Amino acid sequence: MDRQARGGTLILGGGFAGSYVAKLLKKQGATIVSLENFMLFASMLPEAASGTLEPRHVVVPLRLMCPHADLVLGRAVAHEPDRRRVQVETEEGFLHITYRDLVVALGAIPRTFPIPGLAEYAFGFKDLADAIALRNHVLRRLEAAVAAPNDAHRRRELSFVFVGAGYAGVEALAELSDLARDALRYYPADVQATPQHWVLVDAAPKILPEIPPRLGEYAAEQLERRGVDIRVGTTLEAVERHAAVLSDGDRIPTSTVVWTTGARPNPLLAKFGLPLDDFGRVKIDSTFRVEGLPNVLALGDCARVPNEATPNRPDPPTSQHALRQARRLAKNLRGEPKPYRYRMLGQVATLGRRKGIAEVLGLKFRGFLGWFITRTYHLYQLPLVSRKLRVVTDWTVALLFKRDIAELSMLGHRHRLGDE
Ligand SMILES: Cc1cc2nc3c(=O)[nH]c(=O)nc-3n(C[C@H](O)[C@H](O)[C@H](O)COP(=O)(O)OP(=O)(O)OC[C@H]3O[C@@H](n4cnc5c(N)ncnc54)[C@H](O)[C@@H]3O)c2cc1C
Repeated sequence: MDRQARGGTLILGGGFAGSYVAKLLKKQGATIVSLENFMLFASMLPEAASGTLEPRHVVVPLRLMCPHADLVLGRAVAHEPDRRRVQVETEEGFLHITYRDLVVALGAIPRTFPIPGLAEYAFGFKDLADAIALRNHVLRRLEAAVAAPNDAHRRRELSFVFVGAGYAGVEALAELSDLARDALRYYPADVQATPQHWVLVDAAPKILPEIPPRLGEYAAEQLERRGVDIRVGTTLEAVERHAAVLSDGDRIPTSTVVWTTGARPNPLLAKFGLPLDDFGRVKIDSTFRVEGLPNVLALGDCARVPNEATPNRPDPPTSQHALRQARRLAKNLRGEPKPYRYRMLGQVATLGRRKGIAEVLGLKFRGFLGWFITRTYHLYQLPLVSRKLRVVTDWTVALLFKRDIAELSMLGHRHRLGDE
């Protein structure tokens, strides 16, 4: 089956960058091809994992966010640049969508290495399924600690190893350790008395290398004060069902290893006939046009985006940059194309327990103020007033009431009728 992209623009990927382009094209319209019918706001994923935010509130339905766009739920599988069309696999079969302009916003996937046991036993932290699976797993570990036959077994269940000390790893560890701490108040005395072991591993010499050293040191100090065992200059050598083996020679008994060491551009890009750089990012000019393919544009985590404000440094893969890129790209599609330039406002991260770090316009904030600025900034980036209100309501409820510690791994799996 063949169809034409609405308004001539076909957007591959309904993630942060793609959805914002569609939204900002307004009545000009577009067709979005997406694996899900929502945009995930990944910056809030750690809070969804800890239960501070309802999982549904960190996603934004694409049909609500982009009322002038058509949505095709499916997987883009092939691209024919000569015929200006993309093949999409949907639940109902294959279809071809022709375009005048193609916007590639296929994002990135977790970067992994051939570490024994990693694929079998470690958890990723990239999407909502990962975050909720990890939340349920952590809560189950607490139950496993209750059922543990001895102290060593109990300690193993209360040990959690996070590999990758960038934003995602630090925020996920901070939020999940808060969840475990709050949940354990309702557990038997012997489980409460068992020391927890939260370990943060990174090959780099310090955590959060992206942010100014003073804030990074503050973050490390805060985590260490809570007992987090920070192992920098260390790598993960192997994962076993009940252990993490580190390059410092330690073998940590644990049933939880979380892998958050960054991402690499979507490998599908290579199949789409797009020119790629050494890191696998699509090569584009400063107006987002792909080299050698004037009708194809790319942005976000899948592209090497040159920024006129930082001539020798392409944009890092952050939602802050993806949003500014989407604004410029949408304007370029609606009128006279201009080069993209954006000077970063700053960087923010939460550290759990109402603490955070923020660098805004050169000013550095930490502690409660850092946390408040981080939350305010995330709220600003989240589209739709209705979504913002839901998130503020969740935050308010979390301030006033005890944390919800229900473990809901059964959700999404129906019982077979007739089974006993
Ligand atoms: C845990 C985590 C925390 C983060 N925290 C922050 C933060 O605090 N601040 C910040 O600035 N940035 C943060 N980021 C980074 C930020 O989320 C990304 O930079 C941003 O989402 C990039 O947008 P994108 O559209 O390029 O990619 P994505 O948002 O990943 O979107 C790509 C989309 O393409 C879709 N897709 C993939 N393959 C296909 C296919 N074949 N067909 C159709 N669709 C497909 C995917 O399903 C996805 O929806 C975080 C990322 C993660 C994972």
